[in-house]
Amino acid sequence: MATIALCAGHGGTNNHAKSPCGLLEKDLNLKVALWLRDMLQAAGHTVLMARTTDVNANEAQFAANINGKCDLALAIHFNGFSSCSSTDNYT
Ligand SMILES: [Zn+2]
Repeated sequence: MATIALCAGHGGTNNHAKSPCGLLEKDLNLKVALWLRDMLQAAGHTVLMARTTDVNANEAQFAANINGKCDLALAIHFNGFSSCSSTDNYT
């Protein structure tokens, strides 16, 4: 089994992107990270989390803490758009 680090970007006073529909990037990042954590743990993997609540993620400190201690690290972020009908794709 693998050790996987998940960093839900931003949090606390740092909302970062905000949609015109009122969604905050920090909230989406955390929801996805918690969902991934639960799925990965259910599959038997060890998961290291930068944050599990609405606090400001210290991403640099987390990166230093997990360096050499995990098989995979994911930083979770979303883009903001000026319209709820906008789309974007990255590969
Ligand atoms: Zn972000």
